[in-house]
Parts: sequence; structure tokens; C-alpha cells
Amino acid sequence: MRLLIAGVIPLANEADRILWLKDKVKGYTTSSGYSALFSLRQQQPVEDSVRQCLLACWKTTVPQRTKAFGWRCVVDRLPVKKSLISRGVNIDSRCVLCQVGEEDACHLFKDCVFSKLVWTEISTWLGFGVDLHGSVSEGMLVWVRDCRKVGISKDSAGGVWFTVMWCFWRYRNEIIFNGKSPSFSDLVWNIKIKLWKWLNLGNIYLSKCNFYDFCKNPVGNLG
Ligand SMILES: [Zn+2]
Repeated sequence: MRLLIAGVIPLANEADRILWLKDKVKGYTTSSGYSALFSLRQQQPVEDSVRQCLLACWKTTVPQRTKAFGWRCVVDRLPVKKSLISRGVNIDSRCVLCQVGEEDACHLFKDCVFSKLVWTEISTWLGFGVDLHGSVSEGMLVWVRDCRKVGISKDSAGGVWFTVMWCFWRYRNEIIFNGKSPSFSDLVWNIKIKLWKWLNLGNIYLSKCNFYDFCKNPVGNLG
């Protein structure tokens, strides 16, 4: 600190004030703040898979809070145990779904044996096999590609992905904060109900598609 301020000559006749260095004349404005953030973003280019994943997230018909959750997940800003521990929080690092792996986003949403079972169940229901590999965003691109092979639109495929992720997160929180026991069938049921409610929002035939019909023919009703 001494070195930092050694070369600063204080102005004798002026009071101290906070100065926004990005615009010394007008001071802080929203546009100069945006420009500063934008230039920072350009210095840290976003991976292509992350960019595509974020675009898919905003295009889905899931609720806004789920989109915000999806964004945090894709850019690795969720308070998963590994992140909390790296910030000095003293907690058990194990994943509550399998009680074995270390809980980071990739494990929780994709690589955990429990999560893999759920993805397999959902993909089989939709009519294809799944092998999610790579990061969370890369896994989503694999998922969208496989969904499109059975006739599910890109937007709906992204919607299914973020709905399942949201359900994983809510379920994980129920286990940690409310003492719920992990149940595969319970989680799959929750996911199907959410998909029926959320991914039919843009479907004009919503009133004709009850939950029973949706479960029998999910691909036809996802579009
Ligand atoms: Zn696990």
C-alpha cells in the first residue's frame, strides 16, 4: 500500500472524492459502466459451448427464475459444495445424491450415478439413449443433438435440459435443507410434471394435452 500511494501527490486545496476512472469528466454513468463490463467480457472470451448453452437457455419456455438458475449453472456460479469449500466454508464435500462423489456442477448434474440414472430414464422415455460427456455446457449440446434426432425441436430440447437441471437442484436442496431421502422415482415424476407444465406453455393444444397423454407421447407434445 505504501508503494502504491508513494507517487501520489495530494491536492492541498481540494477535498478528497471518489473518481470513476472510465470517465473522469462525467463520472460514473450506466453506459460507461456497461462499456467497462463489455470490454472485460471481450478480454475473457466465452467458450463456444457456453455461448450456445446460454442462447438455448434464454429461448426456452421455462420460467424466468429457471432461466436465471440455468445461466448461473452454465457459467459455474451455483453455490455447489466444491465452490463453497474453495471460499472457506467448512462442509462435507460429498454429493448428497450418491454419497460418494465430490459435489461440483459437473458431478451433480451429469456424472453422478444417480443423475445418470435419471438422464437415462428421461432419454429412454423420449426415445433415445444418452451419453453425456464433457462439461455441463458440452453435455447440453450432446443432449440437444440427440433430441433433434427423434424430432424434438432445438428450443424444446433446451427446455427439457434446463427443466431437468432445475429439478436436480431443487431436489438436492430438499435433501440438504429438509432432510428428504433421495428417491429416483420421486425425482423422475417431478421432472415429468414440470416438463408437462412448462414446455407446453407455447403449445396451443395445451388444453387438449393432459398429463396422461403427455406421458404417453412426450415427443409429440413437446414439438
Ligand atoms: Zn453424486
